[in-house]
Amino acid sequence: MSENKKPEVKHEKQVPNNVIQLGPTKCLAESCSKKPVKASFCDEHFEWFKAGLITKEGAKAADFEKKHYHFMRSKKVA
Ligand SMILES: [Zn+2]
Repeated sequence: MSENKKPEVKHEKQVPNNVIQLGPTKCLAESCSKKPVKASFCDEHFEWFKAGLITKEGAKAADFEKKHYHFMRSKKVA
């Protein structure tokens, strides 16, 4: 007697791995190559943006030096 065993064929679902994310892949701020987290900025530069140090395009504000100075001071509360 012979048993005819069908080989088990499993159809595994292939998960497509071609999801392309549009938009910037780098933080917009000058010379920053971190991954953007919020509003196309990395965490650090999003803080800058919120503080008015840089525009939403990542350009420095007109009085960046002054703002940055105060920004850094306000951060260094220890
Ligand atoms: Zn950044």
